[in-house]
Amino acid sequence: MRLHEFEAKQLLAAAGIPVPEGEPASDGDTAGAIATRLGGAVVVKAQVLAGGRGRDGGVEIAADPAQAATSADAMLCRPCRGIVPQQVLIERALPIATELYAGLTIDPALGRPVLLLGQGGVDVEDRARAGGAPLRRSVDPLTGVTPELAASLVADARAEPARPLADLLVRLWQVFSEQQALTVEINPVAVLAGGELCAADAVIELDDSARELAGLPRRAEEGPFRRERDGGMTFVEFGGDVGLICSGAGLAMASMDLIARRARPANFLETGGGISRDLMKRAMERVLACDGIRGVFINVYGGINPIHEGALGIADVMPRGVTVPVVAKALGNHQEETWEILEAAGVTVVRDVSTEAAVDALLDRMETEVAV
Ligand code: GDP
Ligand code: MN
Repeated sequence: MRLHEFEAKQLLAAAGIPVPEGEPASDGDTAGAIATRLGGAVVVKAQVLAGGRGRDGGVEIAADPAQAATSADAMLCRPCRGIVPQQVLIERALPIATELYAGLTIDPALGRPVLLLGQGGVDVEDRARAGGAPLRRSVDPLTGVTPELAASLVADARAEPARPLADLLVRLWQVFSEQQALTVEINPVAVLAGGELCAADAVIELDDSARELAGLPRRAEEGPFRRERDGGMTFVEFGGDVGLICSGAGLAMASMDLIARRARPANFLETGGGISRDLMKRAMERVLACDGIRGVFINVYGGINPIHEGALGIADVMPRGVTVPVVAKALGNHQEETWEILEAAGVTVVRDVSTEAAVDALLDRMETEVAV
């Protein structure tokens, strides 16, 4: 999972990487108070889990606390990269002379971490396409980024100031390995007018599975689309009108696309390969608890999944006053038995291989019920 910029900067600071002084705020007054405490000009930054905020009104310089408050108020009610931020970060503005890019990520082709260093800024992707990509070094995960490796990359990149930069790269590895990260990126590493370095932005993506294995705490997700993981299912609520239960992420996304032609999906829910009676019962209960749903679409495929057992879990919930239409497409092993159980419980089963036909059957039903 990806961390917000202010959380990522806390981890960098704990590893001794210089970050600008600042604090997050969720309203204009607090933003103004933070700006007063910092003194002088500040940057107001939308805390959304997306890049390219600078090009979408998500990074503004405010000359004084009043301007910081106005800027924060405006930023907190308009989308930046498609998401309305719940917080803004108020930081002391930096006198930036040069912008560099420093990062560590996993290269899937090498199967190893790679260390990157090059010119930074908001146009780093464009520059990479034009041949100005950062230099890369593969990193032996057992030895990590040694001072020698860091110094040699800094020398090859002809980046200045050399010693502090090499030191920053070694500390970047410390964060990357200690946090079980997939990516730790600083863009820009600001080289200040006085020659000091400061991490002006930070992106950290954690590897949830690795953290679990290492006994590190899972971080609670936040934001409008919070992902819930509950014993075998992954669930995200969107506030639409069609509840969804699917036996895999691909099937769920295809179903959502087809629903979205005529209605709004209320959620994403995938069970993965471990369908059981209890899991489907909990999935159905979770979907029915979504606000404002007017129908439920179930799309399951029985390869190794015992969908007939899952059907029993749906059937457990159906008699408890489910008032919206429930339509299912269930194919694969034990499909006939699954259909029988679902139909006996009051679910409409569409015996068609086409998800589109099954989605339309539900949406047609929902439209007629509204018309009645
Ligand atoms: P991103 O667009 O989401 O990557 O957001 P960044 O935090 O990287 O900010 C985008 C750009 O805003 C940076 O590349 C800088 O040029 C500029 N910027 C960010 N913070 C400051 C600051 O404190 N002072 C100045 N002068 N520019 C800043
Ligand atoms: Mn950036």
